[in-house]
Parts: sequence; structure tokens; C-alpha cells
Amino acid sequence: MTTAGPTGRVQRVHNFSAGPATLPLPVLRTMRDELLDYRGSGLSVMEMSHRSSMFADIADRAEQDLRSLLAIPDDYTVLFVQGGASLQFTMTVLNLAGEGGTVAVADSGYWSGKAVNAADRLTPSVRVCSARLDERGHRSLPPVADWDVPADAAYLHVCDNETIDGISLGDATLAAIEQRHPHLPIVADFSSSILSRPVDVSRYALIYAGAQKNIGPAGLTLVIASPEAIARSRSAGDLPGVLSYAAMHDAGSMLNTPPTFAWYAAGLVFRWLHEQGGLGPMHRRNLAQAERVYAAIDAMSGLHNGIAVAHRSIMNVPFRFEDESRTAAFLASATEAGLVGLRGHKSVGGCRASLYNALPDEAVDALLDHLRHA
Ligand SMILES: *Cc1c(COP(=O)(O)O)cnc(C)c1O
Repeated sequence: MTTAGPTGRVQRVHNFSAGPATLPLPVLRTMRDELLDYRGSGLSVMEMSHRSSMFADIADRAEQDLRSLLAIPDDYTVLFVQGGASLQFTMTVLNLAGEGGTVAVADSGYWSGKAVNAADRLTPSVRVCSARLDERGHRSLPPVADWDVPADAAYLHVCDNETIDGISLGDATLAAIEQRHPHLPIVADFSSSILSRPVDVSRYALIYAGAQKNIGPAGLTLVIASPEAIARSRSAGDLPGVLSYAAMHDAGSMLNTPPTFAWYAAGLVFRWLHEQGGLGPMHRRNLAQAERVYAAIDAMSGLHNGIAVAHRSIMNVPFRFEDESRTAAFLASATEAGLVGLRGHKSVGGCRASLYNALPDEAVDALLDHLRHA
């Protein structure tokens, strides 16, 4: 894709990276246009005090746009913090597990495994289920009825979308958890699926998401916390402020300097999502893109995805050639054709196409075209 820039023609590729990931072109253009002089201020957003009224406006507008996109209940807190989703693996435990409380984790893949490991260092944790091959040889999650959830678990941690494995928890699984364990608070890692579809936020005690997949540049992490989560955090003993949801809530995410530029960029992405019609239309486009990619993979001999259909991710589609030796040639010719970021995570190999909100349909057209000629 070619686009005019102030320094001449700019060549853009189709970016399937799992994160940091592609951003909407209009958002990048706005950042470029406002980079040196933000709306007549004579400064870049990067150069502004986070305590200035100008940045306060940027921050507020971003939060309001996020709240309306996700219909976040008024009594939920939204935090814009640093440290990535990885810090949230630890912060959730510090704030929500209680003294020696047991953390239950649904182990749906790589990132859930990281959440278990982080929890284990601080408190007892239990894998209530693990992703495994079903009777048809597809990777899947066991039915919720078979999950071994301790009666005294402080909460259940789930990963809504396993970015590396390409496994989505799925709304049916969430509903089954709620039905069997109606009083169990649910804490969810939404790093790679936040804003990909409408979500009923009130079903969760706490949601977190690193920004660099489906929101904006790296360096920003969103936390959406219920009043109960903030109350638990308040009674969690004397945590350092930057590790305490309650302290961050009291300080309006400005206990220390927040990632101001990433917050601004996220705000532009939220605006862009509103301009796309919000999360309903976005979800339909994401579903349509994912369906096309899965259909192409399923139709091709020698290529497979391997995930049970009910748990296929609409954001990250891993695929492999039965003849592994074809992978390198495929990736090289893809790069040559302007399709980048298709290499699978180093822990699993193969290929992966990430289909985040900002990926245009033309990128999917190009990928399918390339697959047909692979
Ligand atoms: C990327 C990712 C993480 C890790 O995010 P960092 O910001 O690198 O800490 C955690 N969980 C999921 C689901 C992810 O996709």
C-alpha cells in the first residue's frame, strides 16, 4: 500500500504481527499531523506535562470513548497503567487473592501458563483445566463441568484469547462458568481480544489488556476494575502505590507519570472505533475476516490450524504446513510480497496471522492470494 507523506511516497506493508501490531492508518496520520504542534499548543503530546489541562482533556476523552465503546458500568474503574499484561499477572494476585488465598487459573495456553507461574510465587494456585487434544485430535478446552475449581478460590483467572495458541475461551464457556460457579469472581486477560467484540463488562471482577495488540503502541496497559476489586485491593495490606489498584484509582492513574503518548494514541484509536460504528460492526468485520482465513486453511491440503472450531480465535490464526520444510519458503515469499509478521511464536513455530481491528480487508485478500499460491 502506498500513501503520500510529507517526505514523499511512503510504502506500507500488510502487517500480521501479533504485537506490537498494525494501527489504523488514519490514526497514524493524525499522530503525524499533530506530532510537532498539538492543536495549536506549540508542543508535542510527548512534551506535555501529564498534569496540564491539555493532557487532562486528552486523558478524559480517551476514557470516555473507551467507556462508551465497551458500555463499561459507571461504578467500574478504568486505569491506564504501565508494566504490560505481565505485570498484571502479579498485580491481580497481590490485590485480589487475599492473605494466602487460592488463585484458580483456566490453563488455555501459553499466557495462562505465565499467569499460573506468576501466581505460584505469591500464593497457592490451581490449574482448574488445561488445553488438550479432543477426541478428533483438535486442541480444545475440557467442558466446564470437568473443571476442578476449589470451593475457596479467591477468583478464577481466564485468558479470553490465547494469542500464541490461537485459542479463544468463547462466550459459551464463560456462560458455563457463571452457571456452575455463580459467586466466583472472574479476572480476565483480554490483551489480544479487547475491543474486538462487544463484551458484558459487568460479568468480570477485573479485565486487563496490554495495549500493543488491539489498542495502540506498547507501554500502556488498561485495567477495568469492578468496585469489589477496588475494595479488595484496598484491604490487601500495605502494597506499594504503583502496585495497588486502589492507590492507582485514587490517583486517577497519575500516581506517577503515566505513558502519556500511548494514552493519547489509544484515545485516537477509540475515536476511530467509534467512527467505524463501534464494536458491533467491528466484530462483524473481524468475524468475516477470520472466517475467510479459516475457510482457506481448511480447504487447502497440507495446511492445518488444529484448534477445535468452538475455540478458534478470531484475532490470531495459527497455521502450519504438514511438511514443515515449506514454512521458511512461505514466510520468505510472503515478506517479498509485502506480507509481514506471519511467523509463528518461537515457542510453537509454524505461521500465525493476527487479524486485529486495524487490519484492512485488503490485507486478508493479499494473504489468501498468497496462500493459494504457496
Ligand atoms: C502479549 C500478551 C501478554 C504479555 O503482554 P506484555 O505486555 O508483553 O506483558 C499477556 N497476555 C496475552 C493474552 C498477550 O497477548
